[in-house]
Amino acid sequence: MDSRGFYNEVLLDHNMNPMHKHELPYATCSLDGVNPSCGDSLTLNLEIDGDTIKSGSFSGVGCAVSQASADIMLELIIGRTITDARRLSDIFLRMIQGDASDEEIDELEEAGALRDISHMPARVKCAVLSWRTLDKMINENDR
Ligand code: ZN
Repeated sequence: MDSRGFYNEVLLDHNMNPMHKHELPYATCSLDGVNPSCGDSLTLNLEIDGDTIKSGSFSGVGCAVSQASADIMLELIIGRTITDARRLSDIFLRMIQGDASDEEIDELEEAGALRDISHMPARVKCAVLSWRTLDKMINENDR
């Protein structure tokens, strides 16, 4: 399958069947992320236990790219340590800028399907919204 086909398939799948779009009763932290240029508005919830992201979810409204990106991100980071999540979000944000190696992008699993977003400037802010929100959350949590 070419990368564009993979991109569409991953996006469609996470839009039709988001696994992590729900409330999170035991959330230890929540943060809103807004992308006014598109109207995307989401809330990211994490349940952090020690150094581990035990669970996570998102809610809110937004375009297909922002919603799928949030779902894909949660799929990737749930069960990981905060250090891991921080490294992965760093790779993702660099990938979007066209500045990550193929080996690094492999680590992102499905999120790697969003690499072509870097060629669609209008969609970049949608794709990075949940990741920037995550970044902010785990950095705040660290202090
Ligand atoms: Zn959007």
